[in-house]
Amino acid sequence: MSDVTLKLPIYLDNAATTPIDPRVVEKMLPYLTEQFGNPASTTHVFGQTASRAVEEARDQVAALINADPREIVWTSGATESDNLAIKGAAYANQARGRHLVTLQTEHKAVLDTVQELERRGFTATYLAPEPNGLLDLDRFRAALRSDTIVSSVMLVNNEIGVIQDIAAIGAVCRERGIVFHVDAAQASGKVAIDLARLPVDLMSLTAHKTYGPKGIGALYVRREPHLRVEAQMHGGGHERGLRSGTLATHQIAGMGECFRIAREEMESEVPRMRRLRDKLLAGLADLPEVRVNGDMNQRIANNLHISLNLENCDFLLAALTDIAVSSTAACSSGSAMPSHVVQALGADAATAGNSVRITVGRFNTEHEIDYTIAYLRRKIEDCRAGRLRAE
Ligand SMILES: *Cc1c(COP(=O)(O)O)cnc(C)c1O
Repeated sequence: MSDVTLKLPIYLDNAATTPIDPRVVEKMLPYLTEQFGNPASTTHVFGQTASRAVEEARDQVAALINADPREIVWTSGATESDNLAIKGAAYANQARGRHLVTLQTEHKAVLDTVQELERRGFTATYLAPEPNGLLDLDRFRAALRSDTIVSSVMLVNNEIGVIQDIAAIGAVCRERGIVFHVDAAQASGKVAIDLARLPVDLMSLTAHKTYGPKGIGALYVRREPHLRVEAQMHGGGHERGLRSGTLATHQIAGMGECFRIAREEMESEVPRMRRLRDKLLAGLADLPEVRVNGDMNQRIANNLHISLNLENCDFLLAALTDIAVSSTAACSSGSAMPSHVVQALGADAATAGNSVRITVGRFNTEHEIDYTIAYLRRKIEDCRAGRLRAE
């Protein structure tokens, strides 16, 4: 151990965002300096160079999910993609009905968007998952109505990491002629996605959970069968009219590169993540206070989510200064609200407030995991013995 120097705090919050891979930074830099052209300026070499970079990146994003590059629409991230997909499909289909179905454990980018549509005259059903976090297919079927037009179910949950059976849920939607949207922000580079086979109409993607830059994402919009989506951003008619605005060449090049790397390295990276995560779990599993949330089989490799059955646990969460972890979804932490995801699993609010998400990433080492295990054990024991308050 002594030959390795450890830099503290250790970043173990890769579900909130990832560091940018240096190869991605390298790819982006020229588009911030000499290659500054507007990709829409097709009359000169500046614009043409930028446009080529954008289209290369589009190919790379499409390749990771086995889609046609013409099915990729650039956005500012998964939040915007969720908005464009859900609002866009709801408005385009409102002549057929105004009911939407989603899951209580969706990201706020989906839940808040659906709620906004409710304020605008649509109706919605928010389904509870099973206690393991997975959606029961019969429950899903039972929620569908003759006026249901859109359903949104995430591929990978951002808190507990469970993987929904998108193929089965999508098949039900197909049968019923319901537009099916999938938020895959947490899935890229972690689970194989084959849109040539999956019955998915719309899929939200983002770069910054896959070692790319923040502020760039994409929406997959299926071409066959043709899908109608109403634009939510107007001006200039970029991206086939679906999303106007000058394309951010450097960001797009970064997203292309990080998706290219994900595609090439997934096969070796996923087992490595699983080894580190499983080591972490094994190092904590014997503690009576530790309970794992979410199904452990239908789950991405890098996610561990535990509830701590401890008195004065808030002291513990505040005392975890050597490791950067999430004590609830990053997007809502600070509000000190118990996790809506853990609550939906049936845990009471107190336990939900005492949960910790630990997500390992590309740049974590085995040494860091060893340190984290020893550190967490010490803190939990301190808390159990009532010593934490004094620190
Ligand atoms: C991070 C995340 C989002 C939001 O993505 P941004 O690109 O940050 O807007 C949406 N959905 C899920 C599941 C996420 O994990």
